[in-house]
Amino acid sequence: MKVFCTIHHLNSWHYITVQNVHKYLSSYPYLQDGNYFAVCAYCHNPIRIVQRAKNNSSQPILYGSHTKSIVPGFSNFDHDKLDHCLLKENISNMVLNPLATPTLNISRINTAVLRKDLTYYTGIYFSNKLTNRILQEHNNVFAYRHADYYNLPFTLLLATEHLKLNYRKIANPRFISAIESNSRLFNVSETNQIIPIDEGTTLEMHFENPTISKSGFPSLDIFISESQDNYSHRIYDFHIFAKMFNNLLIFERNDT
Ligand SMILES: [Zn+2]
Repeated sequence: MKVFCTIHHLNSWHYITVQNVHKYLSSYPYLQDGNYFAVCAYCHNPIRIVQRAKNNSSQPILYGSHTKSIVPGFSNFDHDKLDHCLLKENISNMVLNPLATPTLNISRINTAVLRKDLTYYTGIYFSNKLTNRILQEHNNVFAYRHADYYNLPFTLLLATEHLKLNYRKIANPRFISAIESNSRLFNVSETNQIIPIDEGTTLEMHFENPTISKSGFPSLDIFISESQDNYSHRIYDFHIFAKMFNNLLIFERNDT
């Protein structure tokens, strides 16, 4: 893999370069017996920095490789997350590549947790009803390659493609200012609800261009647009990266 993060900053990653290794990894527990270690930016298990010599340049090529067991000074070693790590192999595209047999049934998913994760990703409050509807509409989501109970919020948005936002509530203050300053057709109420000014108007969130970014993370472009008849206007855009979420799986009760 091409990126790493450090134990106390799991949400910010760095490219694996000589400069960054010296800057962030020059003391214990990152430096042990001449070996450099760091944290996988996706599954948060320890990785070792490996050097590969390059023929026609003086700069060595560095990359990260998961360690096979726990490294002193690092927190727990999670085998299941390691098995599901998307940075482990260099994947060339994300999901929309159906498998013959789904890996999991959506009935095993904890929708209360999923709802919070989708709200976090989109900046729009997901109700139980909306969460269940999206899950039902994409009940084959686990037939996609690379979809699992860690990255489901990301995969589900990828499969959803677009979502109508009229009358939904906004969780992200940046959306509120984007609508207030860029929209001709919508207002935001005092309770942060998206209110159409006119009839026949649509505010939509689009999930597009699933790609593997330079850093190796699957990513997705999100934009919000308003439309009425032939008029259509883009109000806001951002992008998200696949990440691992916890507790999405309901534990089975039959293990007495
Ligand atoms: Zn990993």
